[in-house]
Amino acid sequence: MESPKNNVNKLLGDKTKIEKEIEQIQSGCSHACQSLKQNQSEIRWHCDECKQPLKYASTLDLDKFFNRN
Ligand SMILES: [Zn+2]
Repeated sequence: MESPKNNVNKLLGDKTKIEKEIEQIQSGCSHACQSLKQNQSEIRWHCDECKQPLKYASTLDLDKFFNRN
């Protein structure tokens, strides 16, 4: 029988598995191509390949980011 609880447990299990997989990809990535992306309230450099959030944008980066958009 499918219950919401079982569904959530299954989905949480999948989520853990997926997060581990992403982590492995990200730890093996050289982050050669990076671009600035806004993520909720913060703007950070993200790897184009593995999407890992990297360093925070500097004031100069932010100026460029906002002028461009
Ligand atoms: Zn990367």
